[in-house]
Formats: sequence, C-alpha cells, structure tokens
Amino acid sequence: MEISEIYELFDKIGVLTFSTIHNNEVHSRVAHFNGCDQEGIYFRTMWNKPFARQLMETKKITVCGVSNTKILSHDGDLGADFPPGYSIRLIGELRYIPEEEVREKAKTNKDLKLAVYDMDKYPAMKKGNFMIYSAKVELFDYDFSCVNRDHKLLRTRMAFGGMTFNEAGPKITGKCVECGKCYKKCSFKAIEKGNPYRVRSNRCDDCGDCISVCPVGAIELSSPF
Ligand code: SF4
Ligand code: SF4
Repeated sequence: MEISEIYELFDKIGVLTFSTIHNNEVHSRVAHFNGCDQEGIYFRTMWNKPFARQLMETKKITVCGVSNTKILSHDGDLGADFPPGYSIRLIGELRYIPEEEVREKAKTNKDLKLAVYDMDKYPAMKKGNFMIYSAKVELFDYDFSCVNRDHKLLRTRMAFGGMTFNEAGPKITGKCVECGKCYKKCSFKAIEKGNPYRVRSNRCDDCGDCISVCPVGAIELSSPF
C-alpha cells in the first residue's frame, strides 16, 4: 500500500488521536493530518504547545482513528453491535519540518498550501510542522455482524520508511494434534485446517480463545505489532 493510500484512510476519518510518550507519561491530542508525499505524512501544531515540544524531543508518535463510532445497540448478542467500518493505527517516527521546506514543498503539493496559509496567518505555526517519515500501520476492517462477508475481520499490516512489523495472531506449532477444537471455537473464522492447523492472521482478532481450548498447548501467543 502506498503512503498516499494510508493517508487517504486516515483523512477519511478526519479527526484522529495522536499520542507520544514523554517523561514516562503518555500524552494524547486530537488532531488531523494535512498532507502526504512519497517521503511521508504531514501534520502540524503550534510550536509553543507542550505537545509540539514533546514531539520534538521524543520524535515518536502513534496515531489512531475509527471510521464509524455509532453503536447500533448494546444488547445484540449481549454486547455492542457496530455497523461495518474500519479502524486504523500507526506507530511511527517523525521529524520537524522547517518553514522553508514546507514552503518549497507547497509549490508542488496542494495539500501543503494550507500549511503555508496557516503559517502566514498564525506565526506560531511556522515552527509547528512535522512529517512521519517511517511507520508501521494496521488497518482493521470490521464487519462484526457479517453484513458484507461471512467473517468479521480483514486485518492488513503495512510499513514504510524502513520500519518492519510482525504478522498478527497466535502461531500454531508442530505440537498440534489436529483435534479441531480451535477451529470450532474461533468465531472469526480465522483458523484453517491442515497439518498443523494454521491461523490466518488477516482474519484474527487476537482474542486468544483458540489458545484457551487447545488441549496440548500447541498455540503460542502472538507477537507485538
Ligand atoms: S486445538 Fe490445538 S491441537 Fe487442536 S487443532 Fe487446534 S492447535 Fe491443533
Ligand atoms: S486468537 Fe481468536 S480470532 Fe485469532 S485465531 Fe484464535 S480464536 Fe481465532
């Protein structure tokens, strides 16, 4: 997936949660992206805000959002019922973009023209532009009520700028005796029969139900993203 496609998925949501960790505390803000190119994804804040200063120091960020937060009901199947939608999250590294660089990029990138407009209007914006140049991203496309397909999730992981990621989901090892208990238990239709059985990471919710029912301890916990 191209950086521009990742940007589009975030931009369709619009308002996102941005977080970093600073002095052993997690700090979050509500913000949005304001453009992208082949080098990365851009956002801005005002340099005097503590969050901007924290970002300049840590140079690390996570961003997440969800496309549709409407809950259809709280009692369907004794849980919450959501319409189909997606959530997306990013873990990345960023750098500060000097004013001159933003102005230069804006000559060919219409998204960044607004950044120039803001810098001219609000002096504090001149030192508040950032670019995420390296990141791993997870798209969590959900259809929990199986309105459009016969399984609940499609999970896609991707990366740019040199970052790498682990596949989602637990791993079934050679200890598997093919009893089929995990296959029957998985409500996400994420287990494939075989020798040994296999977790389809793009459908797996990491819920752990399969691990709980395996009689021989053949399923290992999933790795962090
Ligand atoms: S429950 Fe365990 S032993 Fe049975 S099929 Fe699944 S992984 Fe294999
Ligand atoms: S962790 Fe949950 S969703 Fe993933 S394979 Fe196991 S039971 Fe299915």
